[in-house]
Amino acid sequence: MLNEASIFARVDELAEEMVEFLRQLVRIPTVNPPGENYADCANLIGAKLKEFGYETEFVTAEGLPECSPQFPRVNVIGRMHGQRAKPVLHFNGHLDVVPAGEGWTVDPFAAVVRDGRIYGRGVTDQKAGIAASMFAIEAIRRAGVKLVGSVEQSATVDEESGGFAGVAYLAANGHFRREAIDYVVITEPLDYDRICLGHRGVYWFEVLTRGRIAHGSMPFLGASAIDRMARFIASIEQELKPKLALRRTRMPVVPEAARSATINVNAISGGQPIDAQQTPCVADVCRAVFDRRFLLEESFDNVRREVLELLSQLQTADEEFRYELKDLMIVHPTMTAPESKLVTTMASAITSSVGRQAPLIASPGTYDQKHFARIAGIEQCIAYGPGILNLAHQPDEYCEIEHLILSCKAMALGAIRLLGVT
Ligand SMILES: [Zn+2]
Repeated sequence: MLNEASIFARVDELAEEMVEFLRQLVRIPTVNPPGENYADCANLIGAKLKEFGYETEFVTAEGLPECSPQFPRVNVIGRMHGQRAKPVLHFNGHLDVVPAGEGWTVDPFAAVVRDGRIYGRGVTDQKAGIAASMFAIEAIRRAGVKLVGSVEQSATVDEESGGFAGVAYLAANGHFRREAIDYVVITEPLDYDRICLGHRGVYWFEVLTRGRIAHGSMPFLGASAIDRMARFIASIEQELKPKLALRRTRMPVVPEAARSATINVNAISGGQPIDAQQTPCVADVCRAVFDRRFLLEESFDNVRREVLELLSQLQTADEEFRYELKDLMIVHPTMTAPESKLVTTMASAITSSVGRQAPLIASPGTYDQKHFARIAGIEQCIAYGPGILNLAHQPDEYCEIEHLILSCKAMALGAIRLLGVT
C-alpha cells in the first residue's frame, strides 16, 4: 500500500524548484494579443517535460490567420507511458497571458517573490497551474512510484482569445481524441480548493441597423439608424431581460447571480465618429455587439430565435426598419457529471490535501473545456488549479506559494488514484 504522506513529502521537497520554474515561466511575457514569445515559453516547458521523462511534441497551428512568422502559435505536448497505455490522464494549461495593463506596484514580468506570494502577469492565470501539474507527476516519479496508467501534459496557446490555435486546433487535428484520453484536468485558477465542472454558453452577435441620411436640422426628412438601435436595445431591456432573469440553471455557477441567463451590450457605434468634426446628419448606420450567456437548459437555436423575434417585431411596427444580424461566436455550455470518476476522485484528493471538502462549481465565463468536450468529445473534463479566480487579469496578480503546493499535492494524489500504482 502506497504511503500518500511520502508523496506529500516529495512535493514539499520539490517546492523550491517548482517556484523557480514558475518564475522562469512568468519572466517570458507571452502576452496575448498579439501572442508574443509563445515559442520561447513552449520550448522552456518542453525542455522541462523532457527532463521529467516525457516524450515531447511541438505543434504549431499552421494555416490559421493568427499564426504568423512573427507570432507563431506553438503548442507543446508531453506524453509519459505508464505500465499500461490506459487510462490516460491529461493535464492542460494555457501559456498565454493577457496584457499587464495599468496599476501595477511591481514589475509584472519580474516574478517578484514577497510574503509567500509570487507576483506577475499570468501567475494565477495560469502559469502556476502548469507548474503544479508538471511537479505533481514529478513528485510521484522521484518517489520511485510507478503509475499504471499514462500521463500527458500540454501547454497551449490563445485561450484568452478563444483557444482556436490552441486546444481547438489540437482537437481538430487529432492530437486530443476521446479514444486516447480518459480524463482532462485544465489547470485554470478556480481556487485551489474547488473543482469547476464546466461553463455556460456564449453567443456573441452583431446587429446592424440602417437608416436614411438627411440634414440634422430636419431629422423628420430622414430615418435615424441610432434611433432604431435604441428601440432594439429598449426591447432587450423590457422584453428579453425579464425573461432571462427567470431562467435558472441547475449548474452550480458562481457567483450565484450568474445562474440566470444574461445579456450585455458589449459595444455600440453609430453615425459620425465621436471625436471627428461633426456635421449635422441623421445617422444612416448603427452597429452594436451583444454578449448573450446561455444556460445548459437553453438550446442555442432558441437563443438566436429570440433575438430574431425582437428584430422582426420592430420591423412589424416600422416597415422601413432594416437590420442585419451576424453571428460572431457561439460556445455551447458544457458540464461534466458530478458523479463521474474524475470529479469524485479529484474531490477526494483535494480533501486529502487541503483538509476540507471541495465545493463543485461552474464558471460564468468560458475556457478551453468547450473544445475538449465539443471537438475532442471527451466527457470527463474539469478545471482545477492553484491561484485565486478574482485575481485573474488584475494588476498585482499573484499566487500564494502555499496554494501552489496544496494543489500540486492534490494533483499528485488524484493521478495516483485515477491511474493506479504498481
Ligand atoms: Zn485562464
